[in-house]
Amino acid sequence: MIVVQKYGGTSVESTEKILKIAQKISEDYDRGNKIVVVVSAMGKTTNYLIDLLNQVNPNASPREYDMIASTGEQVSIALMASALSKFGKKSISLTGFQAGIDTDSTHSRATLKRVYRGRLLSLLDDGFIPVVAGFQGISPDGEITTLGRGGSDTTAVAVAYGIGADLCEIYTDVDGVYTADPRYIERPKKLDKVSYDEMIEMAVNGAKVLHPRSVELARRYHVKVVVKHAHKESDGTIVEEAGKLEEPLVRSLSVDEGIVKIVISNVPDIPGIAAATFKKLAQYHVSLDMIVQSMHKDGKNDIAFTVSKEESKDALKAMEMLKNEIELGGIHFDDTMAKISIIGVNIVGSSEIVYNMFDAIASVGANIDMISTSNSRISCIVKREKIKEAAKAVAKRFGLEE
Ligand code: ADP
Ligand code: ASP
Ligand code: MG
Repeated sequence: MIVVQKYGGTSVESTEKILKIAQKISEDYDRGNKIVVVVSAMGKTTNYLIDLLNQVNPNASPREYDMIASTGEQVSIALMASALSKFGKKSISLTGFQAGIDTDSTHSRATLKRVYRGRLLSLLDDGFIPVVAGFQGISPDGEITTLGRGGSDTTAVAVAYGIGADLCEIYTDVDGVYTADPRYIERPKKLDKVSYDEMIEMAVNGAKVLHPRSVELARRYHVKVVVKHAHKESDGTIVEEAGKLEEPLVRSLSVDEGIVKIVISNVPDIPGIAAATFKKLAQYHVSLDMIVQSMHKDGKNDIAFTVSKEESKDALKAMEMLKNEIELGGIHFDDTMAKISIIGVNIVGSSEIVYNMFDAIASVGANIDMISTSNSRISCIVKREKIKEAAKAVAKRFGLEE
C-alpha cells in the first residue's frame, strides 16, 4: 500500500515523541508499505512564531507572516527524517517547495493548486520515506505561502491525491472523531465513520480535528481518510462517502470560539448595498460565515456577519473602505461571541430538533444572537461566556455523551 501519514503538533511536540513515531513508521515500512510522512510544527511552535512577529510589528506583511510561520514545520521535517535514519531507514526531508506543492499567492491562507508527483514517487521507488513539511507551499512567483492554521491536514490529503495513495492517515492527540470536542463535553462518543459532508460541516464550524479544506479535497478527489491517535492503538474514524439517507438525526456538535461578529449599521435599504459590502470583503479574500440583514425603519438596515478571528482585521479594513463609498451609520466589532452548531442528517426538516436545540440553549440562560441553518446543520451565536454550559446542555439533549 502507498500511505500518507500525517502527524500533528502535539504528536511531535518533543524529540522523545518524534523518535517513538519514527519507530512506528519504520515498523509500518517493514510491513511492506510505501510511506510519505507529513508533519506539523512541534507543539505550540507556530503560535510562538506568530507571537514573535507580532511583538516586532503587529501589522507585519502577510509575506513575512508566511516566512516565519512556515519555519516550524522545517524543524520537524529535519528531526523526523533524521530519526527515521536512526532506525536504519532511507529518509529525506522536503519543504513544500521541494516536494512540489504549488499554491496561489494569497499569503497566510493560500489555496493549493497542484502537487507534482515526480520527486515523491521516485523517492518511494528508491525505498525512501520522504518527510514533507505540512502547512506550506510555493506561489507562482516563488514565494513561500501557508495554507491557514491547521493546514497540514490539507497538505497530507493533497499529497495523498497527488501520488495516488491508497490511504491518508491523520494521526493526532485523540483516537478519532467524536460527537463533540472532548474539551467541551466530558464523555463524547467516538464515531467509527463520518461522511465527508458531515465532517466538512463539523470542521467548518470549529471541530479542528481536521482542517476543513482537507475534507473538501478528500471529498472531491475520493481520498480515503482515517483519523487515529498518534501514540495509542485504535481503529480511529473513517471519513468516507455517505451511506443511504437516514431519518432526521443529530450526530455531533461543534463549538467555535474563534469568531468575530461585525455589524454595519444604518445602511440604505436599496438594491446593490449588500453586493457592495460583500464585494469589498471579497477583494480582501475574507471568508464569511453567517450573514444576517435586519429590517429597520426609515429605509435603513443593519447588516451583520461573522468571520474568523484571523480574518477579522482584513474584514474591518474592507468595511472602512466601504465607508468611503456608501453612507453607513457605524461599524461595530464584537469579539465576545462564540458559535455552537449541531450536525447530522435532515436536521432542519425536523421542527422537533430545531425546537430542542433552541430550548437546550435557553435552558442555561443563553440568548441566541444569530441563527443559520442548512439541511445538515443548525448554528447559533451566543455570548462566549455561556458557550460551555450551552454545549453541555445541547450534548445532553441530543444524547451525544456516553
Ligand atoms: P493536530 O495538532 O494533531 O493537528 P488539532 O489540535 O489540530 O491536532 O486537532 C485535534 C483536536 O481537535 C483534539 O485535541 C480535540 O480537542 C479537537 N476536536 C474538536 N472537535 C473534535 C471532535 N468532534 N472530535 C475529536 N476531536 C475534536
Ligand atoms: N503548524 C500549523 C498550525 O499550527 C499547521 C498545522 O499544525 O496543521 O496551524
Ligand atoms: Mg490540526
